[in-house]
Amino acid sequence: MKTEIVWLRNDLRVADNPLFGGDPRPDQLLCVHVLDRRWLADRRIGPARLAFLWQCLIGLRGELLKRGSDLLVRVGEPETIVASLAEALDATRVRVRQEAGWEEARGVARLRRRLEAVCPVETQESGTLLDTPRLPMAIEAVPPSFSRFRRRVARAWRVPGARGAPVTLPPWPSGAPRGLPALHEVCPTAAAWRASPAGGFRFEGGEAPARVRLEHFLWGSGAVARYRQTRNGLVGADFSTRLSPWLAHGCLSARQVHDALCDWEDEHGANPSSEALRSELLWREYFHWAARQEGRALFGGREPPARDSRFEAWCRGATGVPFVDAGMRELAGTGWLSNRARQNVASYLIKDLGVDWRLGAAWFERCLIDYDVASNWGNWRYVAGVGRDTRERGFHILRQAEHYDPEGAYVARWQPALAELAPGMARHQPWRAAPGAFPAPLAVPDHWQEALLPRPDQGAWPHRPGGPS
Ligand SMILES: Cc1cc2nc3c(=O)[nH]c(=O)nc-3n(C[C@H](O)[C@H](O)[C@H](O)COP(=O)(O)OP(=O)(O)OC[C@H]3O[C@@H](n4cnc5c(N)ncnc54)[C@H](O)[C@@H]3O)c2cc1C
Repeated sequence: MKTEIVWLRNDLRVADNPLFGGDPRPDQLLCVHVLDRRWLADRRIGPARLAFLWQCLIGLRGELLKRGSDLLVRVGEPETIVASLAEALDATRVRVRQEAGWEEARGVARLRRRLEAVCPVETQESGTLLDTPRLPMAIEAVPPSFSRFRRRVARAWRVPGARGAPVTLPPWPSGAPRGLPALHEVCPTAAAWRASPAGGFRFEGGEAPARVRLEHFLWGSGAVARYRQTRNGLVGADFSTRLSPWLAHGCLSARQVHDALCDWEDEHGANPSSEALRSELLWREYFHWAARQEGRALFGGREPPARDSRFEAWCRGATGVPFVDAGMRELAGTGWLSNRARQNVASYLIKDLGVDWRLGAAWFERCLIDYDVASNWGNWRYVAGVGRDTRERGFHILRQAEHYDPEGAYVARWQPALAELAPGMARHQPWRAAPGAFPAPLAVPDHWQEALLPRPDQGAWPHRPGGPS
């Protein structure tokens, strides 16, 4: 009797998941996900992500049950739990996805050592567009910059199609535990977590909601046709795909998105917007392969410094810079943030407040529902200009605000007191437009000394000398 264990981590789907296509097919199969207890203890996973994760797990369990299988979810130390299950079931093989993160790879190495005398532990690449054989360079040779990576990949660009979901799966090992704990038993705060309605979009974890969103973005709303013009948006549901939480948890694979995009192009023709979306998927790819190359170095080496009052104010959305504070409030209220806002809040923290980038990356890890080890830590390093690509980057936040939120609609949404000021640059510099009513920012970089004045059509400011009451 061959009994296998599939250890699911950030690949919470049945479609295009090679772990379910094991050859030869085992007689019995146990599927398990383990929430690492240390993440809860160290506050590395916040309530928003935990709530989303639980939705993904419940959805996945439904898909597995439909196919004659089931899901076991445990909270604890993942390698220990998977090893105990393998020993108790006398498993013939454990299969797990090859994750990008160093910690995850170390966990697999530990499991392999522990099960040396029991069964092999096999890793399988999935979730990305490419895989090691199709990557046009060795992982050790992934170039330091994205543009060089893209040039190399574009020369031999061939993405395999996604596989379908299995129709049936082997039966559950007799007597083996199954089911998942209620979220309120694991974390009452996560069970009670609700996204702020100001976010204007509701994310729901799971494979089915992921497909609905993909379908909507491509075929339902046709938003993909405008993506190149809208992707730097801040307000609204469809300026970008918002697929990141599902991609990060593996409810959707990048190949599934790519296939759908190709289908759309077959009907409508490729255009700069569909190409731009493909290019974003390539950014994800770049960070994935870069993380696998870098290992532990991705996290920046030594321990980060202690948190200080500047960092705390940034986390709370209380720096006094509306464009930054709006982003941080959106993050706290919804667990998600547009790419434009992420870049700006990160830049202000690192370049203007002078705070260590690793504190920001760790805060994002806790708050984001789309947290992905490679994309998060890779993007933070990129903005900080450390590690593989050390070019100087830094935004003039007020100019960014002027360009991407000219009326101040975004900041007023997350800080309603700003709506009292006339639409325009006053809302981005309330300490200048209504001194006394709004505090001065924690840091005013030298290049902001000159106020960015309203456009002629926006009139002079301050509009209300005392500012809002
Ligand atoms: C400081 C910082 C931290 C970030 N942390 C994460 C993270 O933890 N997880 C995450 O998925 N993305 C992260 N990103 C990248 C990017 O901001 C998000 O992927 C994107 O905003 C998600 O929205 P979307 O799905 O609508 O993206 P779209 O614009 O619709 O793009 C489609 C997909 O392409 C991928 N993608 C787009 N931009 C990037 C990028 N710069 N890097 C990597 N992949 C990208 C994502 O998978 C995304 O879902 C971070 C960016 C910054 C600047």
